[in-house]
Amino acid sequence: MTAPEKIRCDACPVMCYIADGKTGACDRYANAGGKIIRSDPLTLLDRRMAKGDEIKPFLAADWDGQTATGDEVVVSAIGAGTTYPDYKPAPFIVSRDIDGFDCVTVVTEAIFSYCGVKVKIDTDRHLGAEAAPVRAEGEVIGHVMTSEYGSQMLSLGGVDHLTGGSKAEGRKTCDALLRLCNKDAVELSVDGGCTVIVQAGQPPIVDGVREDRMRVGCGSATIGMFASQWQGLVDEVVVVDDHITGVVSEHQAGKVIDWPATGIRILGHRSTPGRYFKVAGPGQGWGGTDIDDPLTILGPWRAEKGARPGLSLLMVSTTGEHAAYYVLNDALEPVAQPMPEVLQPSVDLIAQNCEPALCTVLFMGGAGGSLRSGVTQNPIRLTESVQAARTTVTIGGAPVYRWPGGGITVMVDVTEVPDGAFGYVPTPALVAPLEFTVLRADYEALGGHAAKIRELDDVLETGGEYGAAARIVGGAE
Ligand code: SF4
Repeated sequence: MTAPEKIRCDACPVMCYIADGKTGACDRYANAGGKIIRSDPLTLLDRRMAKGDEIKPFLAADWDGQTATGDEVVVSAIGAGTTYPDYKPAPFIVSRDIDGFDCVTVVTEAIFSYCGVKVKIDTDRHLGAEAAPVRAEGEVIGHVMTSEYGSQMLSLGGVDHLTGGSKAEGRKTCDALLRLCNKDAVELSVDGGCTVIVQAGQPPIVDGVREDRMRVGCGSATIGMFASQWQGLVDEVVVVDDHITGVVSEHQAGKVIDWPATGIRILGHRSTPGRYFKVAGPGQGWGGTDIDDPLTILGPWRAEKGARPGLSLLMVSTTGEHAAYYVLNDALEPVAQPMPEVLQPSVDLIAQNCEPALCTVLFMGGAGGSLRSGVTQNPIRLTESVQAARTTVTIGGAPVYRWPGGGITVMVDVTEVPDGAFGYVPTPALVAPLEFTVLRADYEALGGHAAKIRELDDVLETGGEYGAAARIVGGAE
């Protein structure tokens, strides 16, 4: 008896030969009795169901989808398959009625060799220097970008790491991107900096410490917010911050409520009254600085400017995580004292005003390549239609931000995309579900594959080239 023949999957350039009952290298396609099928079901999004609810396996006959409008039920590209290299129309081109308008949604699982993720990590702790390499499992997969207000940004992936480096670098980059996009936890290390576990929608874990709070603001903003609540309870307040350390007696917020001078001296670069840059180096300590003892940012107190024995001082960080209370002795040196009960609520208020620290993962990719041919016979017309906002782009049904300028470069918050929506191929590249929605008349005008437009019922009953399995997931908030 001869072994059954392997058959070729042509959904990506790897062109796997797959034996009956087996899947290809990406696990996304399988040989089922001599036919290549998509191994995940086509995903329909039903906005009448709660987000996260799922019906699977799904039989068309069990569902009242026929009564739904095209706004309530969407055929997403998740599980739709790919028609690489797009010499044929996209896997599903579905007719939709949206608010009485005759629309079409074209879906395909797009292969992105040019893609990456932008990561926002809410933490004061210094993750690493700007432009420092970021590694996953030892390979460089990106770099540190900037620090923004209470967050630090990473840029991961991109063509240099996916395909421009060694094979190992490409594989590790693709693997890390895939896991991040599918909302899994990924451990990253920054050269010369920290190790951070990143998971979309979850708190970051920096060097093994889970970050709970995102700063209430910079040191200056914190002074502005709470100056009046400290008045009468303490003689001086310093909010220690790696970016802008605030001093209430010098700050405009103190001036307007006649806060007296205290003769304090801050060792840092004075920006404007009561606002200091670079009081210390960046690190894991107070307010994202490298200090554990806040007194190290103070110079000698000046009696001629108001310093006196008995003067009280509150020092606090931008999250309220660190706080200390001091009283000047006869030599005008601050001496640590227990935090007075009357001051603790103000420290607690800073902490209460902090938002939960989270990781945000934005998938970013350019959809301006050959996949457009699966949508229209005249690819530039699709690009123009997207840029003119006549064609809407979604990823797994989630709204995207489209970058201005050339191409179809989009970003999406991966937490808005249904679970398990992203895949990969070993070229290496990421696979992301992509949907284009446009008025039918516009679709026809831009050279769309009008003859391939199908009704939702037909899609449910007969499936597509890669099988008929489907699932339905809730899309309502
Ligand atoms: S890697 Fe996946 S998509 Fe590419 S040919 Fe193999 S099975 Fe098909």
